[in-house]
Amino acid sequence: MLSATFHHGPDDNYYLRSGSNDTIRAFEDALGALEGGTALAFGSGMAAVTAVVEGRPAGAVAVVPQSAYSGTVALFDEQQRMGRMEVRPVDITDTAAVLAALPGATLLWLETVTNPMLGVADLPTLIAAAHDVGALTCVDSTFSTPLVVRPFEHGADIVMHSATKYLSGHSDLLMGVLVTRDPELTAGLKLRRDLTGGMPGALESYLALRGLRTLAIRLERAQANAQDLAARLEAHPAVTRVRFPGLASDPGHGLATKLHHGYGAMISFEVAGSADDAEAVCQRVALINHATSLGGVESLIERRARHAIDATQGTPPTLLRLSVGIEHVEDLWADLDQALSPAELPR
Ligand SMILES: *Cc1c(COP(=O)(O)O)cnc(C)c1O
Repeated sequence: MLSATFHHGPDDNYYLRSGSNDTIRAFEDALGALEGGTALAFGSGMAAVTAVVEGRPAGAVAVVPQSAYSGTVALFDEQQRMGRMEVRPVDITDTAAVLAALPGATLLWLETVTNPMLGVADLPTLIAAAHDVGALTCVDSTFSTPLVVRPFEHGADIVMHSATKYLSGHSDLLMGVLVTRDPELTAGLKLRRDLTGGMPGALESYLALRGLRTLAIRLERAQANAQDLAARLEAHPAVTRVRFPGLASDPGHGLATKLHHGYGAMISFEVAGSADDAEAVCQRVALINHATSLGGVESLIERRARHAIDATQGTPPTLLRLSVGIEHVEDLWADLDQALSPAELPR
């Protein structure tokens, strides 16, 4: 139902921003069942991140990934700049560094697989250590979906997704979600959503729920494509490094094999030459779209360091992040190969 307001009953004051509706709840029920908790939907992934971050009391101490989704990094930077939070950026794939940063922390923010470097965090070890110091743990599982990683199995307090990505799957809406298993935590996050106006639209929730119906089959195809393309990219002379946890050569391969049910469908790779050469690859792709975002049925590529914040967090200037879609793998490879090998193009 696409309505924000409703006729008053004798003792209710029903309004969509706090009252939600059946379509939004249906999406939340599905996500809650997939993760094994209670889900709250938000108007975007960043609205969900904000509900967690800005819901912390002033003076919170947050251990956060030094390289992570740019919006999350920017939000924590703002908290620090405004004097509301002490923020400790660490390489979350370096378990010893995280353990060293934890004493005194009240929040640990993790990504299952880091964006855009595709590093794999040791969730159970890091979460247990955070709990030892009394810190709340939130895991951004956007790159993984509940089909690849279920952070509650590793002890997480809050699981976050940008539903803009794989969950909805068609690059046509913005939505976020938080899942918790503690009623008190859920109530606090719901209050944040009501107070800050984070409720998603009903139409978006409908589309996300429709997209969710094909998540399993979309992801299966996208992951198979990614595994194949990663191996071919690794052998390509114009590619200097491939970051994909499904490759035996990848530093995150062992952990991902142990903790994840699949290797996802995101690949980052570095091309030989300069940033301009890498940009040129993005200009030459024809089937793959040169655009930001990820997790949709259509493949997307971009040079991440074109975003100023990614450049400052150490993303290599020639790193291209490829969100592998569900197209035919031979079509994807033909496109990548021609984009990487311009000299061989017919003139
Ligand atoms: C996209 C993304 C977000 C933010 O989600 P939006 O829906 O764009 O607000 C957060 N975390 C990760 C890992 C993302 O990829």
